Amino acid sequence: MEQFGRINLSEEQLEALQTPCYVVNQDRLEENLNILGRVQNESGAKVLLAFKGFAMWSTASLVNKYLSGVSASSVNEALLGNEYYEGELHVYAPAYHLSDLVQHVKVANHIVFNTPSQWVKHRDFMAKYPDVKCGLRINPEQTESDVPLYDPSAPFSRLGTTIKNFKANIKDFDGISGLHFHNLCEMNVDALERTLAKVEEHFAFFFDKLSWINFGGGHHITRPDYDVERLIQIIKDFKAKYQLQVYLEPGEAIGLNTGVLVSQVMDVFENEMQLAILDTSVTCHMPDVLEMPYRPFILNAAEANMKPYTYRLGGPSCLAGDVLGDYSFDQPLKEGDFIVLGDMAHYTMVKTTTFNGINLPGIYLYSEKDDRVKLVKHFGYEDYKSRLS
Ligand SMILES: *Cc1c(COP(=O)(O)O)cnc(C)c1O
Repeated sequence: MEQFGRINLSEEQLEALQTPCYVVNQDRLEENLNILGRVQNESGAKVLLAFKGFAMWSTASLVNKYLSGVSASSVNEALLGNEYYEGELHVYAPAYHLSDLVQHVKVANHIVFNTPSQWVKHRDFMAKYPDVKCGLRINPEQTESDVPLYDPSAPFSRLGTTIKNFKANIKDFDGISGLHFHNLCEMNVDALERTLAKVEEHFAFFFDKLSWINFGGGHHITRPDYDVERLIQIIKDFKAKYQLQVYLEPGEAIGLNTGVLVSQVMDVFENEMQLAILDTSVTCHMPDVLEMPYRPFILNAAEANMKPYTYRLGGPSCLAGDVLGDYSFDQPLKEGDFIVLGDMAHYTMVKTTTFNGINLPGIYLYSEKDDRVKLVKHFGYEDYKSRLS
C-alpha cells in the first residue's frame, strides 16, 4: 500500500498520538530524495525543493543531503529557505513589490520575473545585485492538465510570458540569464517532452543569450511508474544540445507517499445513512480534497458498499461541506477508532488553516528503521490567536 508510506502503526503507537496529526516516514522521504539525487547525478540537472508543496523544515537536513537547494514563491518561503536549507535559493512570484525584492536579494541566487513588465519595472534595482541571476517565466502554451485550476497554459493564464509577449519585448531582455517554465501537475515524462518541444520550438532562438533554464515542478518523479531513465536522457540530450544548466523544482515528488494523517472517530449516528464525525477537518487539514477535488485513501477502507459497513465521513467544523466522502469498513465504526488517511505529507501542512478555531494537526516523524514515532510539534490556541487580532 504505497500511499500509506509504509506507516503501519500498532494500536499502542496509535494510542500514543495526539490526533489529528500528520506522521511522516523519514526513511520513505529519504528514498524519494535518493531518487531525485540520482536524477541530479546522472543527468547533470540540479533539483530544488519547491516549498509550495512540502515545507516541513524539521526534515531540512535530509533535503540538504540530497538536493541542490530550494525554490520559494514568497518572502516567507525565501526566509525559511535561508534559515534551514543549504545550496541555491531560487525565487519566482507572479509579481513583486519592491519591498519583496529588497528581502529576496539578501538571500536568493536566482530571481524569476513573471512578465516583461515586472522585469522592466525592477531591472534597475536588480542591476545593483549582479550576483543574483535574473530569469523570466515563459508560458509554453501547451495544455497538459485537464483541470483548469492546475493548468498554467490555460487561456488567459496570468502565469508566465506568452510566445507573442516574449517576442514583442525582446529588446528589453538584457540582464536576463535564464528562462523558467512550470507547466505540469502530477505528470509523467511524456508531458515534459511535449512541453519541452513547444519551448524549443518557440524560445530556442534565444537560448544562446542564456546560461540556465528551469523546467519547473509537477514532475511525479518518485511515483513508481515514472520513467526516470527517460527523464535523465532528455535532460542529458537537452544539455548537450544547448549547454544550459537545467533545474527542476518539484514539490510533490519529495513528499509523495511519505506520510499519513491520523484521526479518530468522535461520533457515529444516522441520518438516512450512517455518518461519522472525525477529529480532522477536510477544509482545514486537507483542503485539496475539496479544491482539486480528490478522494483520499483510507487504510482498511473501501468504496461505499464494498465492505459491510458504509459511512459518510466528515470533519468537526461547522461547514456543511466538510465531508471526506463515503467509505466502507469491515467492522462498524465506533468512537475512538483510528482513521488513517494516506499520502498526506504534501500540499496539506502547507495549506492548513485554523478556520472555525480548529487546531492544526500535530506533526510527528516516524523512523521505519527503529519503528519509532517522535513528536515534532503540537499546535494550540496561540497558533490560532496569532493569526488574528
Ligand atoms: C507548484 C510549483 C512547483 C512545484 O510543483 P509540484 O507539482 O509540487 O511538483 C514548482 N514551481 C512552481 C513555479 C510552482 O508553482
